[in-house]
Amino acid sequence: MNAKRIRGGLLLRQIALLLLLSLVLTAFSISAGAIGISVDGAPVAFSDDLGQPFIDSAGRTQVPLRAVMEQYGCEVDWDGETRTATAEKDGITVSVPIGKREISVDGWTIPIDTAAQILNGRTYLPIRAVLEAFGAAVIWNGGTKTVDAHHPEAGDLQVHFIDVGQADCILIRSGADAMLIDAGDRDDAQTIQAYLHAHGISSLKYAVGTHAHADHIGSLSALLGAFTPSRLLLPAAKATSKVYKTLLETAGGLSLVPYTPSFGETIPLGSVALTTVNALKTNDLNNSSLMFRLVYGKTSFLFTGDAEAQAEAAAIAAGAALDSDVLKLGHHGSRTSSSPAFLNAVTPDYAVISCGTGNSYGHPHPETIEKLKSAGIAYFRTDEQGSITAISDGTAIYWNVAPAS
Ligand SMILES: [Zn+2]
Repeated sequence: MNAKRIRGGLLLRQIALLLLLSLVLTAFSISAGAIGISVDGAPVAFSDDLGQPFIDSAGRTQVPLRAVMEQYGCEVDWDGETRTATAEKDGITVSVPIGKREISVDGWTIPIDTAAQILNGRTYLPIRAVLEAFGAAVIWNGGTKTVDAHHPEAGDLQVHFIDVGQADCILIRSGADAMLIDAGDRDDAQTIQAYLHAHGISSLKYAVGTHAHADHIGSLSALLGAFTPSRLLLPAAKATSKVYKTLLETAGGLSLVPYTPSFGETIPLGSVALTTVNALKTNDLNNSSLMFRLVYGKTSFLFTGDAEAQAEAAAIAAGAALDSDVLKLGHHGSRTSSSPAFLNAVTPDYAVISCGTGNSYGHPHPETIEKLKSAGIAYFRTDEQGSITAISDGTAIYWNVAPAS
């Protein structure tokens, strides 16, 4: 009995030891070996001496300061007094203070959702925020657990769903052209301006207000002067609000005459084209939203503003081509949009939801999420994931983060 109990005790201890060992090994492999980083297709070599990449508590990939930045072609500097890392390339300077959830790009302070840190005496930077500041396309490949950073290709299409809380703001870049669809709410001008500067945008070809609500045109008048768009696109439906009047006054002062593209009209942007697909004539502001289908090679995107079921039905009835790989869900994921018929017509692989954390509308509504899940549509959401970037080479679409779903 006694010997048996002792053997039993020994066995238990051995099992416990084995469990502990496997836990330690698992933890080690997650922190040390699991994430690969490549720059323009070439894997970055890490060593235990220089530090290994890891995923921090905010879910962001952190990399040791020198290895990645130098492989991307940056000159790297460290200021011990201010505890700030600085990287420089092509005249762009990015400063990253340790422990602060912000970076500075050519003097513009940009909030980020995690902080650079020092671990075991080594400096780590959140790779996505820092490399995107240099205009890099940073792609997360969940299948291979790798972060791939690329110098942008001249032909690539970039679509940025900028995190502006409970509002919309989308930046589209193709070639030398840039278009802004919506401009956040009234207090988002600084955020958007910083984002555009951080991505090397100094002027816009088009500024679009999908409709006259403040969470779409809120900061548009503040941006017109700074980014001097050649054209301002607005729907025909007008509003009496102060923010709308201010927009028209500011546009008038800059000799910008708002233009309403008609159904089926094509708008060229760099090497892509957008087609207007809202066929509804209405004074209901949400349903008046300018809707665009963008096609680049074999890839396509549909932008919907706050269009609801009525505008969706009108687009289908008018015979608009709607089939798209990516759908910016109408009205922040509200149940009043994304009708089954519309989702059937678009059949997206991906959906993007632009909404604010804990917003009072309950966006995205659970019914919408349910519809996406049952149709097998992967989705991204700015309230949980911050700004979302999609990059298309005309054949495939790459994302800077894994879907939320
Ligand atoms: Zn809205």
